[in-house]
Amino acid sequence: MTKLSQIAADLDRADPLRPFRDRFALPDGIVYLDGNSLGAMPVAVRSAMDDFLQREWGDRLIRGWNDGWWELPTRLGDQIGRLIGASPGETLVCDNTTTNLYKLAWAVCSSTTRNGPIVTDDQNFPSDLYILREVAERTGRELVIVPTDGLQTRMSDVEPHIGGASLLALSLVAFKSGALLDGSSWTRFAHDRGVPILWDLSHAVGVVSVAMADWRADFAVGCCYKHLHGGPGAPAFLSVRSDRIGRLQNPIPGWFGHADPFAMSPAYAPEPGIRRFLTGSPPIAALMAMTAGVDLVEEAGIQAIRAKSERMTAFAVDAWETELRPLGFELSSPANAGERGSHVTLGHPSALAISRRLTQRGVIPDFRPPNGLRLGFAPLYNSYGDIVRGVEAIKEAMVSHDEVAEPRGPVT
Ligand SMILES: *Cc1c(COP(=O)(O)O)cnc(C)c1O
Repeated sequence: MTKLSQIAADLDRADPLRPFRDRFALPDGIVYLDGNSLGAMPVAVRSAMDDFLQREWGDRLIRGWNDGWWELPTRLGDQIGRLIGASPGETLVCDNTTTNLYKLAWAVCSSTTRNGPIVTDDQNFPSDLYILREVAERTGRELVIVPTDGLQTRMSDVEPHIGGASLLALSLVAFKSGALLDGSSWTRFAHDRGVPILWDLSHAVGVVSVAMADWRADFAVGCCYKHLHGGPGAPAFLSVRSDRIGRLQNPIPGWFGHADPFAMSPAYAPEPGIRRFLTGSPPIAALMAMTAGVDLVEEAGIQAIRAKSERMTAFAVDAWETELRPLGFELSSPANAGERGSHVTLGHPSALAISRRLTQRGVIPDFRPPNGLRLGFAPLYNSYGDIVRGVEAIKEAMVSHDEVAEPRGPVT
């Protein structure tokens, strides 16, 4: 361990992102390795919310809508659009990822004459599978959930199922294994077979390089409470390539997506642009709370973030090899840093108990069934030293027989 600690100290000293750690409100003594489930809180959220409460809602009242609230879903959308390489006017912040997936998948399936299946894989997030099944059933299609090895989806897995498909929907970074797909090749793979692609960027946005426009990707949805540090239940985003927006309908049309909401017309007419995917009033307080996190990611830059993220997962895998593999942990993530997002999953039969013990000791990972201890690395606030402390805590948890308090809630 001393050698690992030494390497970590050197890496931390040379880390250009180190100053960002102080921009987050992390409690003393906590090693937080769950930023891929809920990002830590940026310090600037406090002043942003104070300002919103006192000056905007408090003083400006309804006039706030004309002072910037109205544009917030598209202003934040364009900012996130820059982080995922989309063009201006293609990205909107609204609802949650699950709802946005429903909106886009339904819109795509309802606007095409293709009636082949919706294709996804068994690594996709459960909520995505529920929604895709629902959309398939409601639009008279099948859902094909392609089986994989559970580690990394291969084109050869999908090839037998994709002919004639209406939509290919995949997560760019798999929530369990952390596998990162090559967005460019996969988008080309789908397009060469005449199939549009919808990326779920939830575990990717803010930490992985995404180039929607360069890939010519059709659609994306994603989550803002993970690596965008947007806060619990932060609104999510959706993104549509501009040439496709005009043909798509919102399955939950509402006045905020109307071309002229204050005409108060009894007939619905969609806004020409991406705002057509709004439904009702956006949650302005929640949008305000997420501005600080997105600003921080933009300030640091995705390139620097991704470079550190790759180095962090590589360091964690090296540490697993020497310290944890001998204790019976297996690597449930791809072995190559270039094929991983920003978390590493270690399989162990006692992963749930270990995860609880760690949390009790102030090292916070999470657990994903059946046996995954997930360690998430947030390049803006985690240090290499955090990884060493995490590995030490795992080793201690293996020899301790402390009583572990039962968890207090449903979240693992
Ligand atoms: C976190 C995550 C979501 C979250 O969905 P919400 O509806 O915003 O809670 C969806 N899909 C994937 C792949 C995720 O990782």
